Formats: sequence, structure tokens, C-alpha cells
Amino acid sequence: MKKITIAIDGFSSCGKSTMAKALARNIGYLYFDSGAMYRAVALYCMQNGIINEEDIDTESLNDNIKHIHISFEADPETGNSMTFLNGVNVEHEIRTIEVSRFVSKIAALDFVRNEMVEQQREMGKSKGIVMDGRDIGTTVFPDAEMKVFVTASAEVRAQRRYDELAARGDNPDYNEILENVLQRDHLDQTREISPLKQADDAHLLDNSNMTRDEQMEWLIETYNKIASEC
Ligand code: C5P
Repeated sequence: MKKITIAIDGFSSCGKSTMAKALARNIGYLYFDSGAMYRAVALYCMQNGIINEEDIDTESLNDNIKHIHISFEADPETGNSMTFLNGVNVEHEIRTIEVSRFVSKIAALDFVRNEMVEQQREMGKSKGIVMDGRDIGTTVFPDAEMKVFVTASAEVRAQRRYDELAARGDNPDYNEILENVLQRDHLDQTREISPLKQADDAHLLDNSNMTRDEQMEWLIETYNKIASEC
């Protein structure tokens, strides 16, 4: 079958990454987590004094943006994708609540998006990829053959994020996470550049009441149908 591009967009903490990763593994495609790229830029800002308290020094970030290079590598033991910021593995650091607090503000900056979109298009130029994010089907790959828009209630999403952080030994606060989910939804949907919205030709997937197996079945069925028609 011809290789296609698969774009999975949707709200924060809907399980996009988990499903995108599983789909890629299942069909032998490469997986790219575009949210991890914005998170890595936020981490870069925190590490380099570009964010102080709530203030972002946008001028300094603009001067540095061409020096921020994000790449992905598979963990040799687990096969999971790991995020590298200028060659350093930052997979763990980019998932903290501190990074989550700043990331949507960083992701709303036009010059940050331009640079990340350029790096994302480079990653996808040979097709055969699954990329998840907020604007993959609308801006990064508007010609993607398969587009999925994922949603679930904010409470379900906050609980999932809570379980994820608790499982890795953090001590999360559910209300703080719910507040963060709602705040990121708002920022992502109302930003001027590439706001989060369903592409006209995207398939809607509300997974509030779906098991992982049901989701995977739905994704594989959708993929088989689209790829066989390409
Ligand atoms: O997917 P994840 O929640 O890790 O993404 C972190 C943040 O990065 C999102 O809340 C959103 O603000 C931003 N993002 C984006 N465009 C993407 C992917 C993520 O603006 N394609």
C-alpha cells in the first residue's frame, strides 16, 4: 500500500500521543509528537533565563530560535520515542507541570510556530508518518490523506493526565491539572496563529467513553479504508 501522512489533532490530554504511537507501531510508520517540540522550546526558555516568573523575553527567544533544534530517537529498550533538544535527551523534563504551565504561551508566538512547522515538514517529507498535535491537519500537512480530530471531556482528560503523572512517581494535584487543561484549551483555541480547530476533512473521534482497544480498532479501520483508496 502507498505510504500516506496521518495527522492526529485535538485537545490536550485526550490520549492523542498514546493512540498515535500505537497506530504508528501497528502499521510500521514513524511517529512524531509535535507537542513535545513546543514543550522542548519552553524548556529551552526555562533553562536559558528567557522565562522569568510569568514573563517571556520574546526578543531573546526570537534571536535564539534558529539555534533550537528538536529531534526524536527511539529508546533502544522500549522502542518509545524520546525527544532531544539540541542533541540532549529531555523526554522526562518536558513533561513536568512547570513546562505545561508555559508551553501554550510559547506555542502562540508566530516565529516559534514558523520554525517548528518547518522542522515538522522536514520530518514528514518522505511520508509514512503519524504526527500528533493541534494544527497538523490544518497547517503543517493540509494535504494529509488521513486526518483525525480527537476530543474528550475536560474532566476525563485531567484524570488521564493525573494517572499518567502519578504512574511515573510524581505527586500530582487533580485540580491544578484540570485548571491547566482548561487554560490550555482556551489558549489553543483562541490564539491568532493556527488555532486548534477541526479541519473540514478530519474524522471526529470522541474517546470519552472508548477503551484503547476500541480506539485502535476505529483507527485501523479508518486507515485501511483511506490507504486502500489512495
Ligand atoms: O500535546 P501536548 O499537550 O504535549 O502539547 C503541549 C502544548 O503545545 C499544547 O498545549 C499546545 O499549546 C502546544 N501545541 C501546539 N501545536 C501543536 C502541538 C502542541 O500549539 N501542533
